[in-house]
Amino acid sequence: MQQFASACEAIAATTKKLAKTAIVADYLKSRSLEEAAVSAVFLSGRAFPAWEETTLQIGGRSLWQIVAELSAKSEADLTAAYRRSGDLGAVAGEVFPVRRGQGTEILAVEQSFRQIAAARGPATKIELVRDLLSRATPLEAKYIVKIMTGDLRIGLKESLVEEAIGKAYRTTLADVQRANMLLGDIGQTVRLAAQDRLGEARLRLFHPLGFMLASPVESAEEALSYFERAAIEDKYDGIRAQAHVSGGEVRFFSRTRDDITESFPELPDALAGLPRDAILDGEIVAWEYSTGRARPFSVLQQRPGRKKVSDKMLREVPVAFLVFDLLYADGHLLIDLPLHERAKMLDELLAAERVLHHGDTEPQRKARQKELQFNAENGVARASVIRAQVFRAASADELEELFAAAQERGNEGLMIKDVDSPYTPGKRGKAWLKMKRELATLDVVVTAVEYGHGKRIGVLSDYTFAVWDGDPMTNEARLVNIGKAYSGLTDAEIAEMTGWFLEHTLEDQGFRRVVEPKIVLEVAFNNMMKSDRHESGYALRFPRIVRLRPDKSPEEADTIERVKEIYAKQGFDSRNLR
Ligand code: AMP
Repeated sequence: MQQFASACEAIAATTKKLAKTAIVADYLKSRSLEEAAVSAVFLSGRAFPAWEETTLQIGGRSLWQIVAELSAKSEADLTAAYRRSGDLGAVAGEVFPVRRGQGTEILAVEQSFRQIAAARGPATKIELVRDLLSRATPLEAKYIVKIMTGDLRIGLKESLVEEAIGKAYRTTLADVQRANMLLGDIGQTVRLAAQDRLGEARLRLFHPLGFMLASPVESAEEALSYFERAAIEDKYDGIRAQAHVSGGEVRFFSRTRDDITESFPELPDALAGLPRDAILDGEIVAWEYSTGRARPFSVLQQRPGRKKVSDKMLREVPVAFLVFDLLYADGHLLIDLPLHERAKMLDELLAAERVLHHGDTEPQRKARQKELQFNAENGVARASVIRAQVFRAASADELEELFAAAQERGNEGLMIKDVDSPYTPGKRGKAWLKMKRELATLDVVVTAVEYGHGKRIGVLSDYTFAVWDGDPMTNEARLVNIGKAYSGLTDAEIAEMTGWFLEHTLEDQGFRRVVEPKIVLEVAFNNMMKSDRHESGYALRFPRIVRLRPDKSPEEADTIERVKEIYAKQGFDSRNLR
């Protein structure tokens, strides 16, 4: 583990990507195959391979207490150290007594992680963590804690680990990326790469692939400027989900690759009858069966995140799965096929199912809705799989019309997709574009909070937020404030957030608290100005919080580059200034 930790120190010490990957490649080659495989997982900031559902489930508070105990430091000393780095791993490295542990092996650390994950009850877990950390040297403890908190902070993205694997085992980066994407296991990718067997990597059904993401466009003209033929769909405001289906077994995964099937117990049934194994991409929305329309995201949010859903909730907030892509069918991975072929296969697959098509004739639609309503009235929770309707537009005017119609149906806007493009998991490119109601929104990180006024006097409801200056995956990136907004959240959300902020305060300034930069918000605004009011050099006009984005990590928030892009485009399209 000492060599691993030293390699991490060296990686953190350089900002050059080439140098980082060279250090990782040399390190991997210097280890046994098993050690290299486990190291690759750890270097990606994970305790376990991505596809596994295993988690350590040890709270930050418990870890903090163990560090305090083993270092024999006071709470005040630890807090001071934590304020300096905001990283418990770094704190452990700093405060652990030098002659404490003998040192441990990387494979032993992995074994301990497995025992911690398998242990039931916090007391046993704490005992195991204490045992692991007391064996470690301070430098080892630093990185063990960092892995446990899920963040190495050495400026090393998983993509750089992939590059290093390519270098270490002399294979192409594309082969490494493909194997890692299919397996969701960078450790197994190392094993295959070392044995020149990357071609054997196969997709694991029920282990989610990355999601293809979209880039924002500011106008209809821009939306039609990137490719020849566009498939246009409504942008539904719900929860992105990937459904894996095999016979009667159906599971849904979120963008964060969590299994969310439990939260939508009525959905699997709707897909269980598919004639073939498949992976579908789509959006779960709250659905109004009487009108055949999506309901606002805020309605869907009424359903609890992870807990068991009550029958009442199932009846009051029925959902539908709006499907727009097919990634795998019948043993074949389809992501390299162009969208128009995937779409055709999706239509064929769903035609075999009894689904409510937007394209149904009016009598068909009525009959189907009646059946669904009947079920709802009888208290039978029931959900549908619906093929998202696909439109075409020959001109910017036609696209504008579709945009207005989509909004009229209560949807957020449009998705404009290149029909000739492959599906690129985990990538945000220009093959999928999104055109939203708000001219632009930014995903920002909350950096400070203040108590509100009037009925919000006792709660932390005013948020100062920031975007990244620099690449958020590197050490050099820092958050620069860009605005402040009164919460557009519900009272319940504000109350919950207040609790969180109180517990995650870095600096208490009385009426204002500097908080851990972990919460991501989506903010809308009317336009943007250059201003020295905030550190970023920009200010937003009429900023408002659209929603919390618990599905995004702080690193996924927007950057100052994106801010500059929006600012530059304002002039280009005067409608932005409305
Ligand atoms: P955003 O979350 O603003 O980055 O927008 C992208 C998201 O829009 C995707 O991750 C999906 O959750 C959602 N979405 C809604 N409708 C569609 C659609 N027809 N095609 C693709 N994504 C969609």
